[in-house]
Amino acid sequence: MGKPKIRIATTSLAGCFGCHMSFLDIDERLLDLVEIAELDRSPLTDIKHCTDCDIAIVEGGVCNSENVHVLRELRRACKKLVSIGACAINGGIPALRNRYDLGDCLEEAFITGIGVTDPQVPGDPELPLLLDKVHPIHEVVKVDYFIPGCPPSGDTIWAVLTDLIEGREPVLPYELTHYD
Ligand code: SF4
Repeated sequence: MGKPKIRIATTSLAGCFGCHMSFLDIDERLLDLVEIAELDRSPLTDIKHCTDCDIAIVEGGVCNSENVHVLRELRRACKKLVSIGACAINGGIPALRNRYDLGDCLEEAFITGIGVTDPQVPGDPELPLLLDKVHPIHEVVKVDYFIPGCPPSGDTIWAVLTDLIEGREPVLPYELTHYD
């Protein structure tokens, strides 16, 4: 029997999916990855809940109650949790709303804003409640590794991922480290 495959979960919380697109930018190395790893819960699979995993990659900050729930589930299920991209690391662009009152934001978006035709703030209980502020994920769960960038490049993600898969402590070279 061959070695069991590394299990990797990924999720996007208050993110734009750009970090996932960058992950796919590893291009043909995806073929190397599927030889040694398999995806658990991820926007790239149809798995709804995370089972025991080796690595979780989290894009996006935490902006609503569902984000908190998903993030805690990933933390419980995974041995190593990686915070990827500016949004997960410091809230990123979505955290610009932290300067404003949440009620004012909702009013602008759904009541008084340009183009609003049916003014009402959505209140269906199916919808997750927004948090007052957008938070980086390390304010909610323990994070093991951070990969900066908006988004980090495919090469950067690959460097960290292969280090983790091969049991090395990731060291990001200067040329792969950026914050924009
Ligand atoms: S860090 Fe940038 S690319 Fe990644 S989710 Fe946030 S906005 Fe998108």
